[in-house]
Amino acid sequence: MAIATINPTTGVVEQEFDAHSEAEVDARIEQAHSAFRALKSTTIASRADWMRAAADLLEAEVESAARMLTTEMGKTIVQARGEVRKSANTMRFYAAHAEEFLTGRSLEDPSVVGASVAYTRHEPIGVVLAVMPWNYPIWQVIRFAAPALMAGNTALLKHASNVPQAALYLDTLFERAGFPEGAFRSLLIPASRVEGVLRDRRVVATTLTGSEPAGRSLASIAGSEVKHVVLELGGSDPFIVMPSADLDKAVATAVASRTANNGQACINAKRFIVHTDVYDAFVQKFTAAMAALTVGDPFDDGTDVGPLATASGREELAELVEDAAAKGATVTTGGAPLDGPGWFYPPTVITGITEDMRLYAEEAFGPVAAVYRASDAEDALRVANDTTFGLSSAVWTQDEDDEAFFVRGLDAGAVFVNGMSISYPELPFGGVKDSGVGRELSAEGLREFTNLKSIWKG
Ligand code: NAP
Repeated sequence: MAIATINPTTGVVEQEFDAHSEAEVDARIEQAHSAFRALKSTTIASRADWMRAAADLLEAEVESAARMLTTEMGKTIVQARGEVRKSANTMRFYAAHAEEFLTGRSLEDPSVVGASVAYTRHEPIGVVLAVMPWNYPIWQVIRFAAPALMAGNTALLKHASNVPQAALYLDTLFERAGFPEGAFRSLLIPASRVEGVLRDRRVVATTLTGSEPAGRSLASIAGSEVKHVVLELGGSDPFIVMPSADLDKAVATAVASRTANNGQACINAKRFIVHTDVYDAFVQKFTAAMAALTVGDPFDDGTDVGPLATASGREELAELVEDAAAKGATVTTGGAPLDGPGWFYPPTVITGITEDMRLYAEEAFGPVAAVYRASDAEDALRVANDTTFGLSSAVWTQDEDDEAFFVRGLDAGAVFVNGMSISYPELPFGGVKDSGVGRELSAEGLREFTNLKSIWKG
């Protein structure tokens, strides 16, 4: 794939970039490696000052950064501004809490291990390679980089090939804020050159946010090198609606949760599993609300849904819908790519999905909602868990027994009750099953890339 900005609203190639040469990549790894020597001896307080300065820079540049995101991957300008601000807030969150999160613990009674003192420390480990996707070009990187840098690690970013401007913007952000030169470096390389970087002895760990095949490939290389890996992969999150739910709120939230980021978020709700008592009313209201969304120019403040990020992404989505329709599913709104320039796909609702359809098992990465009818809570849980993914989930109910049943029963990294799945810096984020391993955000995300050292003193 070429490293280029191709505007999804127009299909026009706006800027192409040469990949970094082998010598340039080597120099950048070396910069990150020597920056680690400098960074690990700095105090958490000074790193926090630089992190706050980086957050201030990002926030001051919110308008240009948001325009860059909308140009490169088509998210609406309103959501792009939100992404930039959320990133800045998360940087401040880690600046404020890193000291507390990195504090080890002491044994109350060290004599049980024959010591006078026994305690733990979280220490930085070195250069971490992050392979990141295009769907949140700043947020995905910041939620890795803010904790990694606060822990005292340095970072190399291999960003998705269709967001090179975001990669280059982030390349200088931390340095401009005071971090040592090379503490954060972007590598403009295709996916095929990730292996060489990960096998480099100066790189000690890695993380990937993206698709399952990419995650499996990276993890197998990391495994053969005995390097720590964190994976945040796909999801096909269930959104369960029970009879006691506030139906209008559930419908409005279902629309927002399916179409946020033009339907291209790992934690978008993708499968809507509705109790038979409220199924017909839900389908009717949900279809009407999805059909009423404004699809169009993502630079327009009034647009709800912009284009998909890539031509190939739109093609894959269209194939999933065509396959379901050909096998007998009902499309209640949308259902085919829009004519004209750009990679627009309308908000789509599909019912009558059966297990032989690809849509039953595969992730729909765009504004396509699959709605299932469930006969009772048990049946809803069965359908919800009948997936290889396990990222997040949502359940709408006002019944406490139902709530407890789903909170315990859902195989997912999170359950949102009467709400939609969102990531917060305060809450751990990650999945089970094929959705990934490890956690980002919160204290757990900060500690992923640390050496938990035990100290024993006789
Ligand atoms: P992708 O194709 O896996 O790309 C993600 C990143 O991995 C890009 O930088 C890509 O580089 C690189 N890559 C691709 N194949 C690779 C390989 N074999 N080895 C090393 N690197 C490789 O995913 P995408 O289509 O951009 O993103 C959509 C997927 O990401 C969806 O499944 C979505 O659910 C998931 N996602 C998950 C989360 C989460 O937190 N769980 C968040 C966002 C997205 P190139 O661009 O150069 O190919």
